[in-house]
Amino acid sequence: MSKRIVVAIDGPAGAGKSTIARRIAEKLGFLYIDTGAMYRAVALWALRNGSQMEDTAQLEQLALAAEISLAGGVVMLNGEDVTAAIRTPEVSAAASKVAAISGVRRALVEKQRAYSQTTSVVMEGRDIGTVVFPNALVKVFLDASATERARRRGTETGEEIAAVARQIEERDARDMTRAASPLMQAPDAVYVDSSGKSVDDVEEAILKLVRSRASNGKEVTR
Ligand code: C5P
Repeated sequence: MSKRIVVAIDGPAGAGKSTIARRIAEKLGFLYIDTGAMYRAVALWALRNGSQMEDTAQLEQLALAAEISLAGGVVMLNGEDVTAAIRTPEVSAAASKVAAISGVRRALVEKQRAYSQTTSVVMEGRDIGTVVFPNALVKVFLDASATERARRRGTETGEEIAAVARQIEERDARDMTRAASPLMQAPDAVYVDSSGKSVDDVEEAILKLVRSRASNGKEVTR
């Protein structure tokens, strides 16, 4: 029986998690899961629905009812392709607000754990190594300097760097100080600073880690 492996990649906004996680998953033949896209999808639905961010019960219901699929890099919400719609600054800010609600997190964490039932995964987010898969075989906390994170995000979206820096700072502060699963490095996570490093170098360092851990024959799914 082949072993199911979980590679958990956490870190702040703009650290390069998506790029790295996607590439690692491709190299290893694992499923890539962007959990931020799931919080964004719920936030988009809430915004369209006119839901109040204070209405935690309603937001939890939306998270439970949301049919989210992430196959092939296309984010589907209730049958609609929302890949582009979830990337606006408005949705980014709303995502970090709905993500502070413990009922929303419970609903999405359950969906996230379900992905690993049948296959090995590379999952990225804020609480993968701390909450979703505390026994993941490999845990990485991917970081980069604030300036570099803002520059990368700004280049990606075409927004002004100073404005992106402010948005990221606000979102990270909310993600790190919330009571429910705050962004933090798991004690057994490997800290990787991607500032000034090429994507190839970061990818290689993490692949090395996965290979050495996997060859120890440890099976970890949860
Ligand atoms: O990763 P991304 O920037 O797309 O995530 C959007 C927001 O979703 C984050 O700012 C964070 O508030 C929330 N999130 C989370 N837990 C995760 C993934 C994302 O709280 N595992």
